Amino acid sequence: MKTFPIGGVHPPENKITANMPIKYLPASGSVVVPLAQHIGAPAIPAVNKGDKVKTGQLLAAAKGFISANIHSPVSGKVNRIDNALDTSGYRQPAVFIDVEGDDWLETIDRSEEIVYDIKLSSEEIVRKCMDSGIVGLGGATFPSHVKLSVPFGKKCDVLIINGVECEPFLTSDHRLMLEKAEEVLVGVKILMKALNVNKALIGIENNKPDAIEHLQKLSGNFPGISVLPLKVKYPQGAEKQLIKALINREVPSGRLPVDVGAVVHNVGTAYAVYEAVQKNKPLFERVVTVTGKSLKSPGNFMVRIGTPVGRLIDEAGGLPEDTGKIISGGPMMGKALVSTEIPVVKGMSGIIAVPVSESERTEVNPCIRCAKCIQVCPMNLEPYLLMSLAQKGLLTGQKRK
Ligand code: SF4
Repeated sequence: MKTFPIGGVHPPENKITANMPIKYLPASGSVVVPLAQHIGAPAIPAVNKGDKVKTGQLLAAAKGFISANIHSPVSGKVNRIDNALDTSGYRQPAVFIDVEGDDWLETIDRSEEIVYDIKLSSEEIVRKCMDSGIVGLGGATFPSHVKLSVPFGKKCDVLIINGVECEPFLTSDHRLMLEKAEEVLVGVKILMKALNVNKALIGIENNKPDAIEHLQKLSGNFPGISVLPLKVKYPQGAEKQLIKALINREVPSGRLPVDVGAVVHNVGTAYAVYEAVQKNKPLFERVVTVTGKSLKSPGNFMVRIGTPVGRLIDEAGGLPEDTGKIISGGPMMGKALVSTEIPVVKGMSGIIAVPVSESERTEVNPCIRCAKCIQVCPMNLEPYLLMSLAQKGLLTGQKRK
């Protein structure tokens, strides 16, 4: 079975919510929509205090090419534009909106009907992704229109779709592949058209056999798209490891996937692209897995951007008494949150309530040169050596203390 050849680990999967269908959480109360939810320059507010907004309306405009538009996830009144805590615990500008009903822009197609026919040209697709504020939903939040604009002189010959979801606990992509498979496949076709490629590979780890089978069956109706099972190994969802696993190409240090002819998008992004292009719906909601070993009712929720994390935890049965940390994202790459008031953002794939027993740092002991870190490093580094160099202040750019 395919996988990347160097290093990697298989942590306990803990996919508690794998069989839990996505629940739709209606807009209510108030939301806080940060202006910096993507890689690149923060967006510039396009509304003022006191303005009435509709769901899907532009709230803040991208500042430059590497930036992304932000749309209102709710209808209501702009309470204020002020600083709010972000997922890293810093205060960043955000639009505070008091929710009033749920009045969507009339231009958004809210029907359940799947639209297969792709009418837009490649250039129009890229423009639509830009207008709709689409960013990479796997967590990286890189603006999708930038990835779709292949630089002059470079050529992409394969689109890679990341359905790996190698982080323990997270199941939002898994549920999307099961419940919105056709929409995801149309989204992949749209991305292929934008990149002008006739080949797309969807990589899924084989701990999701139902998603692999379902997408393999449906992909027969989508020429050029193949679904490939992958051995379970962390960090296979990282672009470089996924490219190596699927097409055996190596992205050189400091270079991009497009330098080896590949562009990678996440399955959640493919779904968001489908909604933007075929339904005229900007990105203002996403699936978030809310989970943890002690949570009463963990689940996968389709939730509006800006919803406080605390509301999601309440929906999942409330914060367990033994909680030591709340993590945004997966346990391997996620960040511990400093408050439950922090809002859901475009890049938030999960919320994990981690018990105290598993969240405390253990004592740091001296290196015994067992070489285990070398065996598992997926980048072929020597972590023990880097650690000693860092301790001695000898890493590049550091002055010796
Ligand atoms: S740093 Fe690496 S070599 Fe040293 S004890 Fe830890 S795993 Fe072993």
